[in-house]
Amino acid sequence: MIRKLIRRVFRRGDAPAAQATTAASIPVARHGIRRERVSTGARRTCETLQQAGHKAYVVGGAVRDLIAGIDPKDYDIATDATPEQVRALFRRSRIIGRRFQIVHVMQGGETLEVSTFRAAHNEDTVKDEHGRVLRDNVFGTIAEDAARRDFTVNALYYDPSTETVLDYHRGVADLQQKTLRMIGEPRARYREDPVRMLRAVRLSAKLGLTLDPAVRAPIREMAELMENVPPARLFDEMLKLLFSGHAVECVKRLRDDGLHHGLLPLLDVILEQPLGEKFVMLSLNSTDARVRAGKSVSPSYLFATLLWHEVLANWEIRKARGELLIPALYEAMDEILDVQGEKLAITRRIAGDIKEIWALQPRFDKRTGKTPYRLLELPRFRAGYDFLALRAESGEIDGEIAEWWHEFQNADADQREAMLLPDNGPKKRRRRSRAKKPSADQASAGSEG
Ligand code: ATP
Ligand code: MG
Repeated sequence: MIRKLIRRVFRRGDAPAAQATTAASIPVARHGIRRERVSTGARRTCETLQQAGHKAYVVGGAVRDLIAGIDPKDYDIATDATPEQVRALFRRSRIIGRRFQIVHVMQGGETLEVSTFRAAHNEDTVKDEHGRVLRDNVFGTIAEDAARRDFTVNALYYDPSTETVLDYHRGVADLQQKTLRMIGEPRARYREDPVRMLRAVRLSAKLGLTLDPAVRAPIREMAELMENVPPARLFDEMLKLLFSGHAVECVKRLRDDGLHHGLLPLLDVILEQPLGEKFVMLSLNSTDARVRAGKSVSPSYLFATLLWHEVLANWEIRKARGELLIPALYEAMDEILDVQGEKLAITRRIAGDIKEIWALQPRFDKRTGKTPYRLLELPRFRAGYDFLALRAESGEIDGEIAEWWHEFQNADADQREAMLLPDNGPKKRRRRSRAKKPSADQASAGSEG
């Protein structure tokens, strides 16, 4: 009993500055969010919960974005109602999650994520040997819920009925002063969850915030903790960063500090090769433009571009060793995907799509006979062609090939026939060289098996 008491007293020492128990109540005149700007679904959900006697707030990224003048992409609701109580109040809702249950509430076309206030970490929280939090699933007070969030700008609670923001950690002031500040001690918070380093970069790029020096300083030395993050989680976070609409800015910020080392293993090498960098930046730029225009983006295409120069380098080595052209490409593709797969859980389906895009590349060289027609029929042709065009734009290959394929797609039957290159050249040459240099052929055949 006494031991427990002592532990409880000392707990405060473990998590400095995160223990605010009272909130500033910020009126609409200072934060500017009129309830009409909040989605109908979020408003209705809060209303229903409040009418049943519960507390309910719009929380997190949505409040932050609204104050910053950005349209939130989704809404999270925080409440003191338990998941079962929430579930009982909404006909179209379901409880999801194993460790910490949350409720998805459907309102019109919207899905709201409703979570019960979560308790602060304590001595019972399960962590791995590096201090990363593995399990915690206790309900708590709103103040505890606020203290667990990562950045002050993410710990704001908006009540649509009163148009007030509850602010436990001076998040509104930080947002207005354009600073990203951690709740609590940044090193301790990165140890609990290293992914917060990536979140810091992503959110600062998205909102145009400056990283508080205390948030920024430890990243370089703690980046290696990312290695302990489960690959599936890392993959999700990378996708969020790359598809944030601010990927170029994120990468720029990471590079300015040399933070891409270790944090983004797949960018390490690429960003150091001039041609690779140009290619990756072109790809990230067009991804940003598509995201901002609300167009669809494909993870496989993006990862194919990020890893292409790795594949090229590996392929070169194999070709120099005398391996056969196409088998060497396939070996290179597998090796690069295996290496990345250890850190990022690239799903099998995405890996398959990536390989299809890569495998198409040498086939674009063949502009004779039936081959071009067959390529046009392939489901991945469009992605493969876009990829080819990007290679040309980056200077990796001659622009003429990409132009040819552009024209070929848009040509009619007669024009296509006229565009085909004569079929004799390469074959004859191959026959001749075989006759002249049997040793070279033996060498490559030998290395195949
Ligand atoms: P986005 O604009 O990408 O949605 P977000 O801040 O809303 O950004 P989410 O992943 O949707 O990001 O998280 C919602 C909220 O949950 C955050 O605003 C923050 O309060 C909290 N949160 C998310 N991830 C973490 C984390 N790793 N550590 C602590 N709090 C987190
Ligand atoms: Mg969000």
